[in-house]
Amino acid sequence: MINGIKPLEYSLRWGMVGGGGTSQIGYIHRSAALRDNTFTLVAGAFDIDAERGQAFGAALGVQTERCYPDYESLFAAEAARADGIQAVSVATPNNTHFAICRAALMAGLHVVCEKPLCFTAQEADELERLSIEKNKIIGVAYGYAGHQLIHQAREMIAAGELGDIRIVNMQFAHGFHHEAVEMKNPSTRWRVDPRFAGPSYVLGDLATHPLFIAETMVPGLQVKRLLCARQSFVESRAPLEDNAYVLMEFDKGIVGSMWVSAVNCGSMHGQKIRVVGSRASLEWWDEQPNQLRYEVQGEPVRILERGMDYLHPRALEDDRIGGGHPEGLFEAWSNLYRRFALAMDATDRHDTAFLSNFWYPDVHAGLSGVRWVEHCVRSAEAGSVWVEC
Ligand code: NAD
Repeated sequence: MINGIKPLEYSLRWGMVGGGGTSQIGYIHRSAALRDNTFTLVAGAFDIDAERGQAFGAALGVQTERCYPDYESLFAAEAARADGIQAVSVATPNNTHFAICRAALMAGLHVVCEKPLCFTAQEADELERLSIEKNKIIGVAYGYAGHQLIHQAREMIAAGELGDIRIVNMQFAHGFHHEAVEMKNPSTRWRVDPRFAGPSYVLGDLATHPLFIAETMVPGLQVKRLLCARQSFVESRAPLEDNAYVLMEFDKGIVGSMWVSAVNCGSMHGQKIRVVGSRASLEWWDEQPNQLRYEVQGEPVRILERGMDYLHPRALEDDRIGGGHPEGLFEAWSNLYRRFALAMDATDRHDTAFLSNFWYPDVHAGLSGVRWVEHCVRSAEAGSVWVEC
């Protein structure tokens, strides 16, 4: 149980690039990072508009001289200070992630980056190489992967409670962009423009979330081949897709699918992961995050509730309040940031024993998502054919 005791004796000096006052995702980064006293926000280049970013940083309580106009001056000026930042979070549009992460690692900083980590597997490989060379971590903001019931599923699957895993079905299908909302909404506009979003829209923006949750639930899950068909129902979004289907073959004979959509009218989020084994299945849905369905063939459905003593100790250790009270996205993110801080600390201490058995969405998680999107786009562009991964 997390009760507010600081997990580290110190707090990491932390900065942000992006996540400004008008951004969708900046507040949850700050809320999660600051909740357990593992990070202190001391600097930032919060906005593409330097003046607006400086005013916003000051309003957050950051010293004016540490609210920088851009990430280059942030990294240079902070490196020159004895009390400069030790870690930075990158919450900017996708096209900037690679350059900013690279510059942060070069400046000797730990990084938390938004998904997708970058545009190409080659870029992700370079970031991984740099993070090893500089002995700094890259954490990736796959928020709900930090939810306790994802780890309950992981423990049950590892213990063989489902039998042999046969099928992994994933979906993230909401309806918010069923029409061209990007005409009015700048946060959506860049998402449907390949110059800013990269080679995909919903595959990178949405599907990488359930993909990583499935990889967390089923350790060692490796896609061997896939076939992707993608559509742009709002035609002006082409070549980027607002809907896609992916069929997958994993190793060990496991098969699965992904439905990802921003045009699923009426659906709020629709992020679901269903893992089917030879004797039972598990299903988790982000709109009811405190419940995990456990369905044993021939028996009544069981709903496992977060915070209950019958869960695995790993699924209880990150609880912040007992069962019955809802925990959700903000708590899952806080669990991730707490883990990022512990991983940063252990990395700085070269504590490989701790790190070898410590889960968090790391650079491999980022790389795996980027590679998967690349394969999907390759398949779709070739006429929806099977491609080797
Ligand atoms: P947004 O357009 O709402 O906000 C982007 C912010 O970054 C703005 O404050 C903008 O001024 C700032 N910015 C842009 N370029 C910058 C630069 N070069 N330097 C400094 N600041 C810059 O976008 P968003 O929806 O907040 O998305 C940001 C990132 O977060 C994207 O990569 C997106 O995929 C990701 N995201 C992740 C989740 C999640 O669940 N993990 C959810 C939403 C968005």
